[in-house]
Amino acid sequence: MKQYRAFCFDLDGTVYRGKEAIPTAVKFIHQLQEKKLDVFFVTNNSSKTPSQIRETLKQFGIDASEKQIYSSALVTAKYVKERFGQAKVYVIGQDGIRRAFQEQNIGMVEEKPDVVVMGIDRMITYEKLTKACLAVQNGAALIGTNEDIRFPTEEGFHPGNGSFVKLVSQVCNVEPIFMGKPSPVMLEMIQQEYGYGKEEMLMIGDNYDTDILCGIRFGCDTVHVNTGVVKAEAVKEKELQPTYYVEDLSEFHI
Ligand SMILES: [Mg+2]
Repeated sequence: MKQYRAFCFDLDGTVYRGKEAIPTAVKFIHQLQEKKLDVFFVTNNSSKTPSQIRETLKQFGIDASEKQIYSSALVTAKYVKERFGQAKVYVIGQDGIRRAFQEQNIGMVEEKPDVVVMGIDRMITYEKLTKACLAVQNGAALIGTNEDIRFPTEEGFHPGNGSFVKLVSQVCNVEPIFMGKPSPVMLEMIQQEYGYGKEEMLMIGDNYDTDILCGIRFGCDTVHVNTGVVKAEAVKEKELQPTYYVEDLSEFHI
């Protein structure tokens, strides 16, 4: 086994499942922390702030600082600031994304934005979608925090942020820019901020199309855990393969 220094975890399906911790993952994270290896949490969920995610992890017995949590909301706000400077932004989304924009001092407006940013919004309305469509037709850039079309729940699939971004993109005939996994932007940010080599980083997740592809596109090793939504048999049929397969993280030795 190579010597990894930075272990980047997906959350749902990898560290916990819905409202329950995955004990083998929690134990593995404790082992990493005892060995003073670096742990990061990389999530496409833009609705929660890093402090809310930290609270969730705490309930599952994991101590993490906010600096170890990379959400698509945070990365989107940093990206807008770097690429668009003093742009005004129309935001569709919840707490996490709004807080991230406030922290980067990016102005949020309802009229005449330069950029439309879409994150998951459980109070989305026809009016909000129309506003986004009109702004994009007037030249605003279209950014989605993540491109997940659906996400699994106990009762079945719920619509994901990507389904609403796709709607706006199709109405306006414009290609959106996506920030969350499988885009490698979040891993690139961890690498830049901490100075790791790609060979020192490991991406761990249950979802091939987001987590594993994110690691592959970034260029680091990947672990598929069989504790979540996408089962190993399905992943084995993909052309680009993860570096390791484990049933759960008790099988991964460091
Ligand atoms: Mg997952």
